[in-house]
Parts: sequence; structure tokens; C-alpha cells
Amino acid sequence: MDKNKPVCVTGASGYIASWIVKDLLDKGFVVHATVRDSNKASSVAHLWKLAEGSKGTLKLFDADLIQPGSFKAAIEGCELVIHTASPFVIKGFTDPNEALIRPAVEGTENVLKSCNEVETVRRVVLTSSVASIYGDAVEILKAPGGIFTEQLWNNTSSEGHQPYSYSKVMAERKAWDVCKSQSRWDLVTINPSLVMGPSLTTQTQSTSIDVMRDLGSGRQRTGVPMLEFGVVDVREVATAHVLAGFDSNAEGRYILSAHTASLLQMATILRTRFPRYPLPTKQLPKFLVKLVAPIAAGVSREFIQKNVGYHLRFDNSRSVNLLGVKYRPLIETLCDHFAQMIDDGLLKRR
Ligand code: NAP
Repeated sequence: MDKNKPVCVTGASGYIASWIVKDLLDKGFVVHATVRDSNKASSVAHLWKLAEGSKGTLKLFDADLIQPGSFKAAIEGCELVIHTASPFVIKGFTDPNEALIRPAVEGTENVLKSCNEVETVRRVVLTSSVASIYGDAVEILKAPGGIFTEQLWNNTSSEGHQPYSYSKVMAERKAWDVCKSQSRWDLVTINPSLVMGPSLTTQTQSTSIDVMRDLGSGRQRTGVPMLEFGVVDVREVATAHVLAGFDSNAEGRYILSAHTASLLQMATILRTRFPRYPLPTKQLPKFLVKLVAPIAAGVSREFIQKNVGYHLRFDNSRSVNLLGVKYRPLIETLCDHFAQMIDDGLLKRR
């Protein structure tokens, strides 16, 4: 990989991508950053600010996942394309196909078709997810060795059940299919669990921000279900994309997950630093959650049945031993994120 060539980052204004752009700019790269609307100051102002204080150069390009060919101009001249753009929403939509699946899958195909057309491209790093590895937490009971690894694929999500996870697995499958149809560029996927940690933008729709807001705002004061997540810091996720982009030995899928924690465990950690906040203090019994969740949270009983009450384990050894990712302690990730949300006015100062 020629480090003098520009690097394309799709969905550059997003929560994770902004940290990738920062990392590349700080290292002195020319970054071809795609956004949906480069004239929308609120989405891109933070990117210009990152560029000002860096050794690198930022160039913005307008591109939409569902517009065929719209990423080609940004990809021209790049050897490395980091494709992060994809909606990460789990509620607030009526048509999962239009909101999630179509932009994720068609969008990935559009980006990769342009990679096929641009002769300079040598590697694509795709932001996939552990949602592409498993669909529901209950699957941990059948995972070989009781742990989720890169060998596994989500075969249980659908448009009607876990549509976000479905969008991620279908997009990743599409990416591997397109990759196998040619030989000029190779594909590496980064499969993060729930990404937490400070955001460089307040404009993101990322569900990561909603999880933290729900914990700190008092919405979950009465209690939380026993829902466990793999958690990883956004800064490590960004570093992993850049490492995967330039390591000639990088190949295949990399789970990025540092810790597992339930919502209550996250709240308990946060309370040590933010004792005045109405963080949840108890776990609600599964039968009660199942009873109220469809009305109180718009979540199906099937989701509760298959996801509440299971302990998860993720094998992150490929990310540590092969990519060289160093994970920070969970308390630092959670507290930095919470503090940033207070500073940005997303949580009331108490
Ligand atoms: P985010 O801040 O909402 O970023 C999503 C990005 O996708 C935004 O930049 C958005 O662009 C772009 N996008 C959405 N629809 C688009 C469209 N039709 N055309 C062009 N761009 C579009 O969320 P994030 O958490 O950073 O997620 C980034 C990636 O990481 C996604 O692929 C997500 O699935 C993956 N991921 C996230 C997590 C997590 O916990 N956050 C975990 C695993 C994987 P605009 O700003 O222009 O709307």
C-alpha cells in the first residue's frame, strides 16, 4: 500500500468514521471523505475542525448509498477504501427494508462496483459487526466452546426479526461475494460489538449514543433487563480499521470486542464517577420485561425471549494477536463517553 495515496472513508461524518478520519488526518493522509450532504454544516463542521489541527488533508465528496456510482469520484486515486456508511438505527422506522437493508446491501454493492471500476483500489476495509456473526444472544448456547468467533455467521435474523442485524450480515455476505468475483483488491472486515466512547460529533444517529442516553437520562431508573453486550471503545475500532488497511498480512474478519457487560454493570461502573445521575440500580425479571416490553419499548416478546438473560463471550484474539489492537479498560470507555455527552449537552449537567 502506498501511503502517499489518498484514503477513501465512506459515511465520514458518522460516530465511528469520524475517529477513523481523525486517525488518518493525524497521520498525514489525504482523506477522501464521503458524506450525504457536504453543504450541511452541522454534519461536517467537526471534520473541517479535525483537518485544521492535523498534518493531513481533507476532501469532502457527496455520495448516497442508494445512488449507483455516487462513490466513484471519492474512490478515484485511492488504494484503500474504508466503507463504514450504513444506517445504525434499531427503532423509529416502519419499513426495515428501506430504512436499513436496502442502503446496507445495495450501498455495499454500489461502493464495491465502483472499487471494481477504479484501477487503483487494492484493499477494502468494511465496517461489519458482530451482528453478522450471531443474531440473538441465545445462540451463545450453541456456539462451539461457548464463545462467538469469526468462524460463525448470523443465520437467524430476517427483515421481520432483528432487521439491523440482517442488514449487516447481508451486506457483509454481499461484500465477500463481490470480492471473490475479482482479484485486484482484497477485503478485510472489522466486526465490532457495541461501540462506546466519546463522539466527535453530536449529529450522529448511532444507537451507541442512545444506549448511553437511556442509561443516564433517568429513562431506565426503574430497572433494566439483563441484556449483556460486548463493548469496545470507538477509538480502538478506528485504530483497527487503519491497521487493517495497511497491514499486508491482514485478511478475513476481525471481531473487535474488549469486554462484556450488562446494562446494570455499565450503570454500576458509571455511578462510581457520576453518583448524581439517575442510573438504573436493579435488574428487572425476564417475565416482567416480556410482559411490558412491546408497549413500553416497542420491542417484541421474541426479542426478549431470545436475548435477555444470556452471558456472552467473544473471541477477540485475532484483533489482539494479529492486528495488534490494545484495548483500554471499560471504565475509561464508559466514563469518557458519559462525560462527553454531558459536555455536549446531550445529558443534563447535575
Ligand atoms: P452513525 O454515526 O449513524 O454512522 C452511520 C453513517 O452512515 C453516517 O455517516 C451516515 O451518513 C451514513 N449513512 C446512512 N445512510 C446513508 C445513505 N443512504 N447514504 C450515505 N451514507 C449513509 O453510526 P456508527 O455507529 O458510526 O456506524 C458506522 C458503521 O459501524 C455502520 O456500518 C454500523 O453498522 C457499524 N457498527 C456500529 C456499531 C456501534 O455500536 N456503533 C457496532 C458495530 C458496527 P450521514 O451522516 O450523511 O447521514
